[in-house]
Amino acid sequence: MSENIENEIVQTDIDCDYDSLTGLKSYANFKALAQYAIDCDPEGVNAGCYSLVYFDILRFKVINDIFGTQAGDEILIYLAKLIKTLAGVQSIAARINSDRFVLFVRQGREQIEKLVIKLTDDIAHYPLPYEIICNMGIYVTTRVMRVESMIDRAILALKTIKGEYVKRYVFYEKSLRDAVLGEQEITSMMKSALEDRQFVVYYQPQYNHNDGRLVGAEALVRWMHPKRGVISPGVFIPIFEKNGFITSLDLYVFDEVCDFLERSYKKNDHIVPISVNISRRDIYKPDLVETMEKIRIKHNVPVGLVRIEVTESALIDGVARLSGVIDKLHKCGYIVEMDDFGSAYSSLNALKNIDLDILKLDLKFLSDGGNRNNGGIILSHVVRMAKWLGFSVIAEGVEQTEQADYLLSIGCSNIQGFLYARPMPEGDYVKLLESTPLGHTKPAMTLIDSMDADNFWNPMSLDTLIFNNYVGSAAIIEYKQNGFIEPLRLNKKYVEELGGHFAVDDVIKQNFLATLDATNSALYVGMLERAISSEGEEECETWRNMSCGPVCIRTAVRLIGKSDNSYLFYARIRNITSEKLAMQEIMHREKVFRAATEQLGVYYWELDVPSRVMYPCFRCMRDFKVPPVVVDYPEPVIKLGVFPPESADRCREMIREIENGARSVEADLPLTEKRVMCRVAYTVEFDSEGKPSKAYGTAIPL
Ligand code: C2E
Ligand code: CA
Ligand code: CA
Repeated sequence: MSENIENEIVQTDIDCDYDSLTGLKSYANFKALAQYAIDCDPEGVNAGCYSLVYFDILRFKVINDIFGTQAGDEILIYLAKLIKTLAGVQSIAARINSDRFVLFVRQGREQIEKLVIKLTDDIAHYPLPYEIICNMGIYVTTRVMRVESMIDRAILALKTIKGEYVKRYVFYEKSLRDAVLGEQEITSMMKSALEDRQFVVYYQPQYNHNDGRLVGAEALVRWMHPKRGVISPGVFIPIFEKNGFITSLDLYVFDEVCDFLERSYKKNDHIVPISVNISRRDIYKPDLVETMEKIRIKHNVPVGLVRIEVTESALIDGVARLSGVIDKLHKCGYIVEMDDFGSAYSSLNALKNIDLDILKLDLKFLSDGGNRNNGGIILSHVVRMAKWLGFSVIAEGVEQTEQADYLLSIGCSNIQGFLYARPMPEGDYVKLLESTPLGHTKPAMTLIDSMDADNFWNPMSLDTLIFNNYVGSAAIIEYKQNGFIEPLRLNKKYVEELGGHFAVDDVIKQNFLATLDATNSALYVGMLERAISSEGEEECETWRNMSCGPVCIRTAVRLIGKSDNSYLFYARIRNITSEKLAMQEIMHREKVFRAATEQLGVYYWELDVPSRVMYPCFRCMRDFKVPPVVVDYPEPVIKLGVFPPESADRCREMIREIENGARSVEADLPLTEKRVMCRVAYTVEFDSEGKPSKAYGTAIPL
């Protein structure tokens, strides 16, 4: 793009063809323009003065599903503008399809790196409650070639970071092409390797995070190469998928798994189902299911013990083909899992048309490196979605307890990941089976109907907005009847209410019961038990030992969900420490005052002048049976005989004097039927307008 290439091109009369959504060039037009620029400036190209960038938005389909296609379109328009603004008018940019963009610009390595860093930053700040991540593969020109070859190189680079969160862009290096050569080597070795039994099946256990039981395993293949050592499936599976060998390998793995199940089945009852992967290539084999059935029957393995994982990417080849295979599998009785759910490929909506049993979420695709909240948003949305569609959910790639706990709180208890165990050889897996309590893949936690569960877990819903912002201090608490209590989700206000300066994480991580002594923890558990049986709201007040000192918390809970042995509660709290301390103080003073009045033999009361409501002291209540609140004073007290007839009028008159503004009133009167002579006196208090508000009365026997 020596001077103003676009103008030159327009003059050369190449058709101007634009992408209607973003206003960028069409792909065909891009290729023509970029090729022209390359051919016009061979020296610049050879000297590395140009870059070609290939862009791909991470999980764009998921974004579309969650926020709607309009929001998706707006992101595309935004990205297009961003590319154009950052790269300048002389750059050539196009949208290839969907969320794939390409840019050709006269910028060398350093300049283009600055550009992509700026772009990564800008797009991350796009105003959506979800971080937009754009992966970029960059080819800095090395020599004149076809623009298509440059695009291929940028894509090759991009593929090495696809699905990564930390690394957003990558430069094409020659070593990447060398890796492609390794592909030929792998292809030449694969057949003999299969015959030599170099492919070995590893097992990665799956657990129920509710109770730690082992509920299943996934079969994962390893290539034990005699010279190269262990080759990971990440290296050879994509190659086998390309050259078609994957189907032979998958059937081999299926056979090995059935063989293992047959042996365990004969030996003992330590047995849980095993999931076997089938590749998207396999679904093109017309007799796939029949072949699998022959293998399974040969080994006498009950169909319930093998599950089939189909990959989400199989959807690219169309729902119909995949559905056909799933139907066949279902007819034979297999449980079918959708693997890698949440990777960029599938549309959540497409799932409505597929008859699956279990969704397998990969945290790698769903969590948002670094940003837990966004990951949580996606996760809870997907789990909710899965519930709508009636699927069970299992999460894989779970590495941290926090992740597992969060998953549990959103209703996904089945977990596979390094947190519990890595894939292991058969021998280790057998040992594990023998030493771990086994269970079943349990249904997801059901939320009680009256609570709008769908909305509650929907990150965009009003309920969630309310949970986070408006309900005051709230938490979701899990309780198991073996006494285990743990907060799963807390909002900020909950943490603030506890006093002190805690982080939400700290409070979640902290051992909840350790903050309560035996008496208080019994109070708390009692409240939970009451809420389980009443299904209504229950309250309690407990003192908790926090690091900032003891605090008194009033908690109100309501049951919102239950599974076999655990319950979920919605809890609201109020810190009543200062009220409690003030109350204790008042009670203490009251005690002192009581003692003093008793010793002096004084009776006293308080009169609210405008309303004529009177509050007697405890001695008036005890000795004269005056009720705690007297309305229309003094009539009821006169009726009680405390002021006998000869005192009654003077008594009424004293009140009138108070109402008329007297500061104090006094009289010696006989009281009660015993006519005990007493000095009755009032001291009056006035409001800001000078009207009498309160009168304090005393009666002292003379
Ligand atoms: P996949 O089916 O999604 O398998 C899960 C992968 O995640 C496994 O990688 C597993 O080791 C890894 N993983 C499990 N837990 C964690 C965790 O907590 N953190 C992280 N970072 N990773 C975890 P692996 O064994 O390298 O397999 C890679 C992929 O190769 C598999 O992904 C699957 O697509 C493919 N594959 C493996 N065996 C077979 C097979 O027999 N047939 C077919 N068609 N594909 C297979
Ligand atoms: Ca899998
Ligand atoms: Ca997976």
